[in-house]
Amino acid sequence: MRWRFSRTNPPDRIERRRNRETGTMVSVWRPGTIAEDDCDSARWFTICEDHGSLVGHPTRKLAMQWLSHPLTWCEECQKNKQ
Ligand SMILES: [Zn+2]
Repeated sequence: MRWRFSRTNPPDRIERRRNRETGTMVSVWRPGTIAEDDCDSARWFTICEDHGSLVGHPTRKLAMQWLSHPLTWCEECQKNKQ
C-alpha cells in the first residue's frame, strides 16, 4: 500500500523518528489522515516517509510499537537491507 494523504496537516503526525536500522524517517499519524477507503480512514497509520509505505492499525499503541520496526513492514526498507 502506498502513502496517499487526504490531507497533510502536521498536527495529525503525533510522532516522527529516524529509524536506526534503516536510516529512514518513520512517523505515526492519527486516524482520518489517510483515506485509502472507508475502512482504513478509521485507523492509525505508521508510515515510512522515505518510501511512502504505510501500515494501518486499530490502536495508537500498536502504531507506536511498529514505529521502531520498519523492516518488518516496509518492502523498500527490506530491499535496501539486502
Ligand atoms: Zn522504508
